Amino acid sequence: MSEAKVTILGCGSAKPTKTTSPSAQLVDIGDKRFLVDCGEGVILTMQKLGIKTGRLYNIFISHLHGDHCFGLIGLLTTLGMLKRTQPMHIYAQPDLEKLLQPLLDYHANDRQYDVIFHPINPRKHEVIFEDRTVSVETIPLKHGVPTCGFLFKETKRVKKEDGSFEYVTTKRYAYCSDTQYSEKIVPIIEGVEALYHESTFLNEHGARSKEVKHSTAAEAATIAKKANVGKLILGHYSARVEDHNLFLQEAQPIFDNCVLAEEHLTFDIGD
Ligand SMILES: [Zn+2]
Ligand SMILES: [Zn+2]
Repeated sequence: MSEAKVTILGCGSAKPTKTTSPSAQLVDIGDKRFLVDCGEGVILTMQKLGIKTGRLYNIFISHLHGDHCFGLIGLLTTLGMLKRTQPMHIYAQPDLEKLLQPLLDYHANDRQYDVIFHPINPRKHEVIFEDRTVSVETIPLKHGVPTCGFLFKETKRVKKEDGSFEYVTTKRYAYCSDTQYSEKIVPIIEGVEALYHESTFLNEHGARSKEVKHSTAAEAATIAKKANVGKLILGHYSARVEDHNLFLQEAQPIFDNCVLAEEHLTFDIGD
């Protein structure tokens, strides 16, 4: 049985702090490894944690705010120095290729591997990656720029009573950042084993949260409750809140099985 887990590389919001880097996480599911968002400093964090990049072939970028993609050029140039030869696939809205390709041409033109861009439509809920053990779907989110989350599904081939085979979904993980409160995502993430939902602000910042199209911890918990998920992981904390326990205190009365993302922590998906 493969282990499904998510490792937090960064869980801060736009402004890096002493304790938080911008958004990035590694999702291990279906015996594969995926990078979700790539905030500044991702390659440094991976090196500190001893995480190898050899098994990483796919990167998913939720949107093009800098705190979700500024780490890409650092990561991709370092992979060139590490003599990588396997291609790297990047799933993001089409503008990313326009922004990143000139940097790759300038800084990493001698790399021995291909960077393959897969343009996605963040407004549409659809399957964007599929193989024998994992599928990935977009989750349209509400934010200041086109943004989508990602739903990872582990699939297994099982034998039916008549001897034929079918594929069944065994574990699901949903990543929803950045977004304002949106009940439209509930049917898509219904019953997932683990949900990462942004929790940028506290109740006291409610007006600011709406203005900049983010969510409070209580709103994240409300979505988790309505979608009847197994576990809620909070993250994308505003730099103005130093004590992250305050997020937990506002979320837990609404949805009990709730944990705080912190850098370098790993959470099981399911079980
Ligand atoms: Zn962000
Ligand atoms: Zn954003």
